[in-house]
Amino acid sequence: MGKPTGFLDYNRETAKVLPPKVRIANFNEFRTPLSKEKQRLQGARCMACGVPFCQSGMMLGGMASGCPLHNLVPETNDLVYTGNWKQAYLRLSKTHSFPEFTSRVCPALCEAACTCNLNGEPVATKENERAIIETAYKEGWVQPQKPNVRTGKTIAVIGSGPSGLAAAQQLNRRGHSVTVYERSDRPGGLLRYGIPNMKLEKSVIDRRIRLMEEEGVKFVLNTNVGKDIKAEELLKQYDRVVLACGASNPRDIKVPGREAKGIYFAVDFLGMVTKTLLDSNFDKVPYELAKGKNVLVIGGGDTGNDCVGTSVRLGAKSVTQLEMMPKPPVERAANNPWPQWPRVLKTDYGQEEAIAVFGHDPRIYQTTVTEFIADKNGNVCKAKIVDLKAQKDEKTGRMMMVPVEGSEKVIPADLVLIAAGFLGSQKYVTDAFHVAVNGKTNVDTKPDDYATSVPRVFTAGDMHRGQSLVVWAIREGREAAKAVDESLMGYTNL
Ligand SMILES: Cc1cc2nc3c(=O)[nH]c(=O)nc-3n(C[C@H](O)[C@H](O)[C@H](O)COP(=O)(O)OP(=O)(O)OC[C@H]3O[C@@H](n4cnc5c(N)ncnc54)[C@H](O)[C@@H]3O)c2cc1C
Ligand code: SF4
Repeated sequence: MGKPTGFLDYNRETAKVLPPKVRIANFNEFRTPLSKEKQRLQGARCMACGVPFCQSGMMLGGMASGCPLHNLVPETNDLVYTGNWKQAYLRLSKTHSFPEFTSRVCPALCEAACTCNLNGEPVATKENERAIIETAYKEGWVQPQKPNVRTGKTIAVIGSGPSGLAAAQQLNRRGHSVTVYERSDRPGGLLRYGIPNMKLEKSVIDRRIRLMEEEGVKFVLNTNVGKDIKAEELLKQYDRVVLACGASNPRDIKVPGREAKGIYFAVDFLGMVTKTLLDSNFDKVPYELAKGKNVLVIGGGDTGNDCVGTSVRLGAKSVTQLEMMPKPPVERAANNPWPQWPRVLKTDYGQEEAIAVFGHDPRIYQTTVTEFIADKNGNVCKAKIVDLKAQKDEKTGRMMMVPVEGSEKVIPADLVLIAAGFLGSQKYVTDAFHVAVNGKTNVDTKPDDYATSVPRVFTAGDMHRGQSLVVWAIREGREAAKAVDESLMGYTNL
């Protein structure tokens, strides 16, 4: 259980981060992990609670609390403390497919739910996880796990994001022959072309893909299923199909002037930047996208923050980030108690960088855009924005954000990045497979099930759950693999 008095003896300590003005010089990761000895003391802080909320992964107050993968957190924390790194890796691998991804990008639902977080600082479980997996890679313990026997069953996984990769890894290790189809030029989904390189270096994805290939998973890239290859063809060729295409349908801002040049969806912009970096082996930085421009990011969430950090690196003249909702409180509100996910103000890496460069927080709350204004060449140059206030809708009784009359103003905006969330799956794929979708256009299944309305077709990840997190995508991929395996073999041992 770590050290019985560890949480009293040692303070929480996490990786050293480079100062914002230093790290914006490139797109590299900027966290230097603790030494192994210091990381051990972080393991010592775990109390092996009788009810360890850290690994519960349950829904509380409409938000997830604790690890959705049910990682064996108290066990691995103890193994970190006692320096049993190999055993820690083996225990972590029981529940997790890709700790190297989540230990970099997860918001750490485990830490938010940690008992130490009730009136102190949580155990540094996320960084313990990173130390475990990176030690395992360094020591050569992460080896391809090839199945001893092949079942003769074939599976096509559509989409190579974390859900598709997790499903493919599990099913291949079980002995089925798995082919992953990906429309993009590189595998990884939003791990590759959504999350920026400074948060998750793409060599980390390549390292895992190489292992999966050695294990026997085949990757077919640049192939858009439903366009380049027919659904019927895949259903003829494979025993099962797993749809893991993500919630790739971005929410638009439909206001006058939207057709102006220089307005991008966040994912398209972030993907363009990463692709240019990768194609040039990091020799070419696409400064022309944002250098010297007034950047307007619409959306106050994590994707918006990634746009802020990327624009700062590209040399933007100014960065403004609009958020419709009110500024969250600094401390938990009374109706948001532990171990619920804390709905509190978070200043993320991109915002920290904008503050360092421009001297102020880029976020403006309770504000939206009502019009984009273009110059004579059709390029966006300004945006009309308006303040919002909360008001009860007479018909539904729900609180709505409505414009405050007379609060309109015009701000400069030469590059606009829309980071307003996603609206579910893309119609051409669901139509191609004739699978039923729900009101949010996510692929429909029974609760806690992964079989779609079409026999032999399964689904996982954001395409099923709606826009979510990497950790949920991995869980969905692993659960869908179980469902597929059971449908093929009559039972599952996954
Ligand atoms: C900018 C951004 C930053 C994010 N940052 C974080 C973060 O820091 N932490 C976190 O936990 N979550 C983050 N998320 C959310 C997280 O990335 C997603 O929840 C997760 O990637 C979903 O995984 P998935 O496998 O379901 O889908 P995706 O990752 O979206 O992958 C789907 C894949 O399917 C492919 N595809 C789609 N249709 C077809 C087709 N017809 N044929 C072939 N291939 C197809 C797509 O090209 C894509 O590669 C972020 C999301 C965005 C947009
Ligand atoms: S809740 Fe925190 S202290 Fe308790 S077992 Fe989990 S990580 Fe350890």
